[in-house]
Amino acid sequence: MKHKLNRFLTSLLPVAENRRGECNRCGACCKLPFPCPFLRFDEEGLSTCSAYLVRPPSCRKYPRTESEQLTPETCGYYFVSTESLRDQLRAGKAQPVQEPAPAGAAAYDQQ
Ligand code: SF4
Repeated sequence: MKHKLNRFLTSLLPVAENRRGECNRCGACCKLPFPCPFLRFDEEGLSTCSAYLVRPPSCRKYPRTESEQLTPETCGYYFVSTESLRDQLRAGKAQPVQEPAPAGAAAYDQQ
């Protein structure tokens, strides 16, 4: 519950620039600390969000920072080291930060 409160309080802050990857719809973040009542699973077992269009910032941005990443075992997002990011910036290879695609994004994009 402490982590959920922390995510709520920091949810208006920007996503860390060293975050990489994308949501694979594992649904793990939708069970922190208990399954969200809006969490659904499609026929392939991928998570979807029945409140996707009005989901809160803490869901939109998860995992916002490495310290707020609570599901590294299954989450498609990861964080590169700041040294690595600095090297990428120097080489002009750094990619812009993209808004996360929380669970269900792909399903709703197809509708
Ligand atoms: S943000 Fe990460 S933990 Fe949450 S559903 Fe997507 S891949 Fe899973």
